[in-house]
Amino acid sequence: MVDSSIDSWEVVIGLEVHAQVQSRAKLFSGAATDFGAEPNCQVSLIDAGAPGMLPVINRHCVEQAIRTGIGLSAEINLFSVFDRKNYFYPDLPQGYQISQYTKPIVGYGSVQILLDDGEIRTVGITRLHLEQDAGKSLHDQHPTQSFVDLNRSGIALMEIVSEPDMRSSQEAGAYIRKIRSILRYLGTCDGNMQEGSLRADVNVSVRRPGGDYGVRCEIKNVNSIRFIQQAIDYEARRQIQLIESGNAVQQQTRLFDSATGSTREMRTKEEAHDYRYFPDPDLLPLELDPDWVEEIRLSLPELPDEKKERFVREFGLSDYDAGILVAERDTAEFYEMVASGRDPKLAANWVIGELFGNLNRNNVEISSSPVSANSLGKLIDLVVDNTISGRSAKEVFEVMFSSGRDPLEIVSELGLQQLTDLSDIESLVSDVLANQADKVLEYRAGKDKLFGFFVGQVMKASAGKANPKIVNEVLGRLLKG
Ligand code: ADP
Ligand code: MG
Repeated sequence: MVDSSIDSWEVVIGLEVHAQVQSRAKLFSGAATDFGAEPNCQVSLIDAGAPGMLPVINRHCVEQAIRTGIGLSAEINLFSVFDRKNYFYPDLPQGYQISQYTKPIVGYGSVQILLDDGEIRTVGITRLHLEQDAGKSLHDQHPTQSFVDLNRSGIALMEIVSEPDMRSSQEAGAYIRKIRSILRYLGTCDGNMQEGSLRADVNVSVRRPGGDYGVRCEIKNVNSIRFIQQAIDYEARRQIQLIESGNAVQQQTRLFDSATGSTREMRTKEEAHDYRYFPDPDLLPLELDPDWVEEIRLSLPELPDEKKERFVREFGLSDYDAGILVAERDTAEFYEMVASGRDPKLAANWVIGELFGNLNRNNVEISSSPVSANSLGKLIDLVVDNTISGRSAKEVFEVMFSSGRDPLEIVSELGLQQLTDLSDIESLVSDVLANQADKVLEYRAGKDKLFGFFVGQVMKASAGKANPKIVNEVLGRLLKG
């Protein structure tokens, strides 16, 4: 369904990201939040909606929301309110969700995203609010019955709403990756999309460049970056075709079908819910102590943008390499351990080239890398102190990656140590020159090209182990006669 006229349209995208707060207990109860637990074993009476139970706010979850707000360069609202959002659903035992509506805990902020062409774009954050998750209906456990698992019920979520500032699926992908990276640096959400810790409602409309915003459709609950991008591309084409064939886009809530890569209607605006929001009478407004907010601000770790800047400034890395290294917190920490006390550019080449190459090819996360930062550092040291050649080091790395073994052990097992002793190399060179007396005369008569031949002979005589730099130096000296 490629549409040639797509170029005369602009796609407008705004995302509502739901991020599960990293917390051992739920937002208003002490029940546990572990992923993958037996159904309904992490449910307190509050989470089950038992009558007369009172919610108690979890201070840690509030702190996490504040940290996130600060990490998104956003205003922290010292006064915010929890509201009830009323609707009926089998997985919502209370009959309402506690959320924040007109007075969220975090106000306007922004993030920077880096596009493929190197351009940096700022995406505005409208707000971040705290809310509880619902339970989960299970339709695949029994042929005729559905079950409800309330383990998720009451888990704290942060809803991060963006401005309609993105203009392509590529930008939306970069935005989600950046948000996920910041959340992981902050330790406020594990960002695990497969486990549902991070998911997004995707709002898409199209317009003529510079014109008014068009009518949008919202695609609910998309849980992978690839799916988000597919949903946007499909939806943009669908809307353009509608308009170009003389129809109008209807404001709708739609669902993404990952099997076909398409979206389909769920409900239209006419059926939109009236949630009858009102302040939850069981909860006082949330009033924050400004000193506490300041304390949290001071405790924030270095975030990816600052870290990138420092890697460029302190280590002399290129923007590009620094960007790759800081994209994930684990990666940046790994790199810094390898670089510590070593040539930072050399360390970056090994981490980005050999290590990331192997991790990607084998689909392994850096957290389970078979090569530790410590042993990669040792391998680099072996090259720098001339114990092995750069070429042998790549061979050693392959063995380290497949076995997790120590580099020095592999070097001695494979006999890869270089010959670096000066007098040993001098005697090798002297032998070669004595055996090739004719060639030596030719060389001295001006046939410079023979130099390479002598190097080859010496390397051969050393079974490939002589350090080429020293061989060159000694040859140059002894050939002068
Ligand atoms: P609602 O509360 O109905 O979900 P909001 O006004 O809060 O609506 O907007 C929700 C999301 O939709 C925001 O991320 C916003 O950026 C995005 N959005 C608003 N208008 C448009 C539009 N015309 N096209 C694309 N996205 C939009
Ligand atoms: Mg919405």
